[in-house]
Amino acid sequence: MSKPIPTRNAAIERLESFLPTAGRDYRKLRNHDLGPGRHGHVSRLSPWIRRRLLTEEEVVREAVACHGPSRSEKFVQEVLWRTYWKGWLEQRPSVWQVYQEDLRALRTRAPVGLDAAVAGRTGIEPFDAWARELAETGYVHNHARMWFASIWIFTLGLPWQLGADFFFRHLLDGDPASNTLSWRWVAGLHTRGKTYLARPDNIARYTAGRFAPVTGLARQGEALTETQGHPRVPLAAVGVPEVAEGTGLLITGEELAPETTALGSHRLAAVAAGFPGRLAADHGLAEPVVSFSTDAARDALARAASHWSVADTWLEAGSYCADALKWARTHGLNRVVMHKPAVGPWQDCTLALAETLSAAGIRVAWFRRPWDDEFYPAARAGYFGFFKAVAPRLPGRSPN
Ligand SMILES: Cc1cc2nc3c(=O)[nH]c(=O)nc-3n(C[C@H](O)[C@H](O)[C@H](O)COP(=O)(O)OP(=O)(O)OC[C@H]3O[C@@H](n4cnc5c(N)ncnc54)[C@H](O)[C@@H]3O)c2cc1C
Repeated sequence: MSKPIPTRNAAIERLESFLPTAGRDYRKLRNHDLGPGRHGHVSRLSPWIRRRLLTEEEVVREAVACHGPSRSEKFVQEVLWRTYWKGWLEQRPSVWQVYQEDLRALRTRAPVGLDAAVAGRTGIEPFDAWARELAETGYVHNHARMWFASIWIFTLGLPWQLGADFFFRHLLDGDPASNTLSWRWVAGLHTRGKTYLARPDNIARYTAGRFAPVTGLARQGEALTETQGHPRVPLAAVGVPEVAEGTGLLITGEELAPETTALGSHRLAAVAAGFPGRLAADHGLAEPVVSFSTDAARDALARAASHWSVADTWLEAGSYCADALKWARTHGLNRVVMHKPAVGPWQDCTLALAETLSAAGIRVAWFRRPWDDEFYPAARAGYFGFFKAVAPRLPGRSPN
C-alpha cells in the first residue's frame, strides 16, 4: 500500500476506494493485521482525519449512504472513537499536563530496555516487527497498537508514558487524545482497573500466523494506578464568530479544510498557515511526520486562498509567530480567526500565537465545528454510553 499523500484530494480518493469495504467486510475483518503494505481491511484514513483534511462527519455520512445505518455501524463506531477521545481529553486537560510532566522527568533517566524496545531489538518477534513498521511507515494496525502497548507495559515493564511518546513521535496520525488515552486504556488507567493483555493465541490468530508461537509474554497485566485525580472541566460551545471587515484566517494543523466550515460563506481579507518548528522540536517529531504535517498545511493554504480569492501567506517554521504578526500587519487585519485548539501540542503553540497577536492589538476569535461543540460534552464516562447518546444525531441516522 502506497504512502499517504497529504492532500484533501488524496483523502477523498482513499475514502471512495475504501467505501465498498466499510460495511460487512470491515466488521468481519478489521481486526486482522496482515503486515506492512497489506492493511486493506482497514481504511488507513487516520492521517487525514486527524488533521481534518477529511472530517469525521464526511466519513460517517458517506459510509451510511453506502451501506445503510446498520451495516455501516461498526465502521461508524470506530470513527466516533476519535471524537470520544478528543471530547474526553478536552474535559480533563490535566491528563495531558501530568503526562507531559512525567515525560520530562522520565527523559532524564531512561529506563533499562528502552533503547532495545524502540529499536525493535527485544527478541519478541511481533513486537520488534511493529516497532520497525512504526519507524519505517508511520503506521501500525489498531490491533497491533493494542498488543504493542500491552507488551511494552506488562511484559517489558516500561513506563506507558515513554511508549505513548514513541508512538506520538512516529505515527503519521499521532493524536494527543487518541494516543495518550489509548495507552492509558491498555494500562488500566482509563477504565480503572481494566487492562488489555496481549495473548499469544490472539496474536497468532489475527496476524495470519505470521507470529506463532509467541513466547515470553506476561500472563497477567495488573492495572497501573495513579494518585492524581483528573476532575472534569465543563465545556462551552465555541461556534463560529461574526466575520467583519479586516478579518484574516490563520489555519492551524488540526482543522485543514476550513472552507468546509461555516466560515466558508463569509468574506475574509487574508489567509495564512504554517507548521511551527517549536511544535516539532518540543515533541521530537520524526521527519516524515513533520513533512506530512507541513505539506498538509500547504495544501490547506492553497485551497483556502482559492476558496476566498485572497493571497496566501506561508509562516516559516523557525519564525512562525513573528511571521504571523507580520502577515496580520501587512494585510491591515484587525481580527484573526483560528480554530480553537484541542488539548495537546497545537494548543500550546496557538495560545502563544494568540498572545503575540493580542499584545499587538489584533483581536483573536476562535471557531469550532458544530460536530465538536455538540459531541464533545457527551464524552463524560465510557465509550458505549457516549455512542448511544450521539448515534441518533449522526448523519443519515434518524433520532429514536
Ligand atoms: C495504543 C494506541 C495508540 C493509538 N494512537 C493513535 C493516534 O495517535 N492517532 C490516531 O488517530 N489513532 C490512534 N489509535 C487508534 C487507532 O489505532 C487508529 O485510529 C487506527 O488504527 C487508524 O487506522 P485506520 O485509519 O486504518 O483505522 P480504521 O479501522 O479504518 O478506522 C477508521 C477511522 O476511525 C478512527 N478510529 C478507528 N479506531 C480508533 C480508535 N481505537 N481510537 C480512535 N480513533 C479510531 C480513525 O480516525 C480511523 O481513521 C491508537 C490506538 C491504540 C491502541
